[in-house]
Amino acid sequence: MGTHVELQSLWRSFGHVTALKGIDLALEEGEFVSLLGPSGCGKTTALRIVAGFDQPDAGAVLVGGKDVTRMSPNRRDMGMVFQAYSLFPNMTAEQNVEYGLKIRRKPKGDRRTRVRELLELVGLGEAGKRYPHQLSGGMQQRVALARALAIQPSVLLLDEPLSALDAKVRVQLREEIRRIQLELGITTIYVTHDQEEALSISDRVAVMYGGKIEQVGAPAEMYGSPATPFVAEFIGTMNRLVATVADDGAIDYGGLVLRVDAARGLPRGERVLCLVRPETVTVVAENGAASANGGGLVGEVISSTFLGSTTRVRVVDPSGQQTLTADISTGQAERLPVGTRVVAAFPPDSPRLLSLADEAALHVPDPDDL
Ligand code: ATP
Repeated sequence: MGTHVELQSLWRSFGHVTALKGIDLALEEGEFVSLLGPSGCGKTTALRIVAGFDQPDAGAVLVGGKDVTRMSPNRRDMGMVFQAYSLFPNMTAEQNVEYGLKIRRKPKGDRRTRVRELLELVGLGEAGKRYPHQLSGGMQQRVALARALAIQPSVLLLDEPLSALDAKVRVQLREEIRRIQLELGITTIYVTHDQEEALSISDRVAVMYGGKIEQVGAPAEMYGSPATPFVAEFIGTMNRLVATVADDGAIDYGGLVLRVDAARGLPRGERVLCLVRPETVTVVAENGAASANGGGLVGEVISSTFLGSTTRVRVVDPSGQQTLTADISTGQAERLPVGTRVVAAFPPDSPRLLSLADEAALHVPDPDDL
């Protein structure tokens, strides 16, 4: 399979805001790629340029090797679903889906068959005669999806299609979108600020920040090997220990020496960000078994958050300088209530180290604030 859609060095400014600063991305035929990032990072701008609703100041969009940058949206063979339910209010679900086919002067019989098939595909076989105001938000987005697919586009573009829906419908519908996309094998770009959504349905995720793509990769790769502090912070929960490289194979985290394999061979004294996933952190009562990493962090459980089968506990040393967050089994957490003296540690081979030569890298927003 070859490259189907290509964004080549896209730049776009609005006044003195540079929304895109050189976006490069290539999608394989049938691939599902999400553009993920916080509000204002340029996701919608990039998607609008691919759709043809906006033009880049520099760069190009290629589909099947052909430059479509200056081509009008209706000639691009793309279907689009927006965040807001953009159905025609005075048309039934069927008429909404049929609209694009009518415009393209498809014969009436073919139109009817296709509309029926599409409404079945999105699970709305029974609701064709209803008007948008008679449909729930989730159903309206299903109609919008069927309408986008009616013209059999070669590319599907979705801009936060689930953000107006409640949590349960959102999960159901994202699974449906993925099922349909796989069934049709349609190349898809999906814009979202929700990392869980992006990781759960995409072949690859492109994390954007400040008009640039920070990293592109398969979900597991983005989670397991974040290339930048921002990606590490944005995808999943992460302990971020600002430390310096100590003797071979160790880091100094505020006076606490911890073994980290990735520190081997790095210059002593170099400032690093040590990234540790909470699920790799073990917590034992201080009088319990020896920890997995030398002494580990000796401290107190200061909070315990029930997450279902796991519980997130935060361990802080007596000076309050060092902290580790761990996701441990809820059964174990019950034996380590807030106030328990514990040792928190991680295996030396689990953390990643990122250089902090660039201090600016530290100033990444907290995902909770995004
Ligand atoms: P959101 O999730 O909030 O929509 P986004 O990542 O999609 O965010 P964009 O909508 O692409 O971000 O916006 C990127 C930047 O460009 C923002 O600073 C935004 O204010 C600016 N911007 C986008 N469109 C315009 C416009 N038509 N005029 C002026 N500024 C714009």
